[in-house]
Amino acid sequence: MIPFLDMKRVNAPFEAETLEALRRVAMSGRYLHGPQTKAFEQELAAAIGVPYAIGVSNGLDAIRLILRAYIINGRLQPGDGVIVPSNTYIASILPLTEMGLRAVLVEPDEQTLNLDWKLARQAIEEDDGIRAILAVHLYGAPSWDNEITPQLLNRGLLMIEDNAQAIGATITDGRHTGSLGHAAAFSFYPTKNVGALGDAGAVTTTDAQLADTIRALANYGSDTRYHNIHLGYNCRIDETQAAILRIRLRALSSISTVRRTRAMLMSALLRNPLITLPAPHPGAVWHQYVVRVHGGHRDAFREYMLRCGIQTDIHYAVPPHLQPCYRNSDSSLTCVPLPITERLASEYVSLPIASTTLSQAAFIACTASAFHP
Ligand SMILES: *Cc1c(COP(=O)(O)O)cnc(C)c1O
Repeated sequence: MIPFLDMKRVNAPFEAETLEALRRVAMSGRYLHGPQTKAFEQELAAAIGVPYAIGVSNGLDAIRLILRAYIINGRLQPGDGVIVPSNTYIASILPLTEMGLRAVLVEPDEQTLNLDWKLARQAIEEDDGIRAILAVHLYGAPSWDNEITPQLLNRGLLMIEDNAQAIGATITDGRHTGSLGHAAAFSFYPTKNVGALGDAGAVTTTDAQLADTIRALANYGSDTRYHNIHLGYNCRIDETQAAILRIRLRALSSISTVRRTRAMLMSALLRNPLITLPAPHPGAVWHQYVVRVHGGHRDAFREYMLRCGIQTDIHYAVPPHLQPCYRNSDSSLTCVPLPITERLASEYVSLPIASTTLSQAAFIACTASAFHP
């Protein structure tokens, strides 16, 4: 059986270093706001190519902190429109509605599966209440259009990146996702390309004022001890997780290369008229390898793969706007019809990529090629 994801296998190469780091932190007497967090933040900022990085509790909190900080700093106000792709994980959207921002859902490009930047530009031209774009680099592929994205940035729109799935990804000029807009959220959930042993996240930004506001917000809103300037949260990263993440961050380029090699091999071998392959992107880091199965044969395909000993998954079967929490409330989502998103959600199948060998990748692709209903 090839499991969809074998976390023990993902973590095995880091065993000795991880145990040593855990021992060191456990015996150090410093568990929060210590030297590991500081070093991790410096190393993450350097890896991404930004001046500021702030370690936080998880990826969802990273997005919440960015939005709250922009509201506090006067760059966003409740009621402002924020473009967000409809084809994403719900964690990209929850913080927008929580903060009273107006989530303007935009359909994906069917090639990239990321935000359709032409449609985003059109939405911005039709709605002068839109102040920001929350771009999601879904499945590890950069969401960026060489022509349209810089145009929109030049018009003064804020660009926030949800980089939870794409640490290490680059666009054609070599810049990293997480450095493309004004602020970016990272998740180090265990199954992400760089994973902690529990929850962790980070914010990167080029904006010194935003970095200060987020640091304070994440620590009860205090700028100095017992001096609270904001109604804050507790969104800190643990020293243990920071220490573990430093080890994995050093392996970032090999983590990305291994996933890329598996993805390229599967795309070279998988040929099936019922299956659309993911678009090739040289800078993608392949958090997921997502194919689309046409003709209503998705369930049959997944059952066939399982009979052949291959576990698959779906990312994501139900798009955010169809989730009960948004369907049943008089929701702050701008509910325009989203037919592309809904059709894609009925076609997606994720093939194993995180913990497979190259020969398993070849077997998966050849098995999928032989599927017929
Ligand atoms: C995982 C993920 C998040 C949330 O990160 P957590 O650390 O689990 O809170 C947000 N957005 C996307 C696209 C994700 O994949």
